[in-house]
Amino acid sequence: MDERMEVFLETFLEEMPEYLTDIEFKAQKEHVPVIRRLTGGVLIFFLRAFNVKKVLEIGTATGYSALYMAEGKDDVLIDTIERVPGRIEQAKDNFNKYDRKNRINLIAGDALNILKELSEKEKKYDLVFMDASKGQYKIFAEYVLKLLNPGGVMITDNVMQEGEILESRYAVSRRNRTIHTRMREYLYYITHSKDWNTMILPVGDGIAVSIKNRERWQ
Ligand code: SAH
Ligand code: MG
Repeated sequence: MDERMEVFLETFLEEMPEYLTDIEFKAQKEHVPVIRRLTGGVLIFFLRAFNVKKVLEIGTATGYSALYMAEGKDDVLIDTIERVPGRIEQAKDNFNKYDRKNRINLIAGDALNILKELSEKEKKYDLVFMDASKGQYKIFAEYVLKLLNPGGVMITDNVMQEGEILESRYAVSRRNRTIHTRMREYLYYITHSKDWNTMILPVGDGIAVSIKNRERWQ
């Protein structure tokens, strides 16, 4: 999105606590790719619109988006998955300080393993926020389908890949090619599968909002 437009639209977001801005700035300084503010706005809109109680986040980083969601609706419980030790440590620190009511549960490990475990335990969520290794989104989504309640929502971040998604495969640097191909396949999957009803929003780095189909939509 055009930067001036983004800044303009941000002025309409509700004000968030000061500490969130601190965590956001620290993350940006350390090149941790946290959600854009407008993406935060979208997340809390859906938490409220769907009266979400249980959230699963894939990709905690330092806890910014989890705390953003927790601030946005005061009865949500969040499970959030992260695999990088340094980030787990920072997230834990932030949750100890700011998640006073212990509504955020950090699960350390690789998302694929954790998703398998959660589905074996038949855990259910109302909203899943997918914000981790972009190349694995499709395989994650197959587990997310099991974990979501009918009518539940999956929000996927970074689907525009900083603009690269629309370039031809050959224009994309070799390093990003696999991710580019996989993201395209993922977008095709969530927009064509009967399991999902999806819209793509050009907010932040692009987000896909996918509703798990209820029987009657099929
Ligand atoms: N949601 C966060 C930002 C997440 S950045 C926020 O907006 O505040 C993506 C994070 O996902 C990184 O910290 C990365 O370590 C983690 N990640 C990527 N692939 C993962 C995987 N397979 N399992 C667990 N964590 C993963
Ligand atoms: Mg992201």
